[in-house]
Amino acid sequence: MLSKVLKTIIIGPPGAGKGTISTRIVKDFGMKHLSSGDILRKHIMEGTATGLAAKHHIDKGELVPDRVMVDIFITELRHLHNHSWLLDGFPRTVKQAEALHRVEPVDLVINLKVPFEVIMERISNRWTHISSGRIYHSEFNPPKVTGKDDVTGEDLIQRDDDKPETVRQRLQTFQNMTEKVLDFYRERDLLTEFQGSESNEIWPRVHKFLSTIKTPLHYTEYK
Ligand code: AMP
Repeated sequence: MLSKVLKTIIIGPPGAGKGTISTRIVKDFGMKHLSSGDILRKHIMEGTATGLAAKHHIDKGELVPDRVMVDIFITELRHLHNHSWLLDGFPRTVKQAEALHRVEPVDLVINLKVPFEVIMERISNRWTHISSGRIYHSEFNPPKVTGKDDVTGEDLIQRDDDKPETVRQRLQTFQNMTEKVLDFYRERDLLTEFQGSESNEIWPRVHKFLSTIKTPLHYTEYK
């Protein structure tokens, strides 16, 4: 557990294991995890005005406007007074980061630096059995018979989302968007980067870092 309330952000490209690391942080450090995608999906399911406004953009593959995102998060964070939190998926733009900084300045930002080639390799070797959702990896978790589901014997497919070109595009878009947000926090000495290929390799360092937090925090690179 932490000796002080910590306001934190986790950033990492899709496929970098951000979900796994976040779950472990929440479990070991008692932080409240606020994922922008989850919050938006909840608003959409509940049919709130915010949900309706957000859905319009999400369906078109666009970002939800900064003003909407900032309102959502400021409201959520108001309920979390005196509680440590971990933001995931927010802020995604410098405008969002600036707004958050004015209202609820964060203590630290964790950036997961997993090489794009590693993510590409992991995702583009993924094969899915569509009707059950079972996932295989050609190298680490191969099906008994190449291209066939172990249980039903049906064909496995590569989802469009997992095709190398699509993954590369998604990673590039992520990088273009987050670079400025990372700079924002780097300039304020709030960024700590964790480099590695796998969650099990990165996690002990994140754990150690959070366990030994002392203020003031300085920019560090945990290789
Ligand atoms: P995610 O599950 O994080 O991929 O989020 C799903 C969708 O919600 C994204 O594709 C965006 O349209 C929207 N979204 C999530 N977080 C943000 C954010 N911080 N700013 C703008 N749009 C967001």
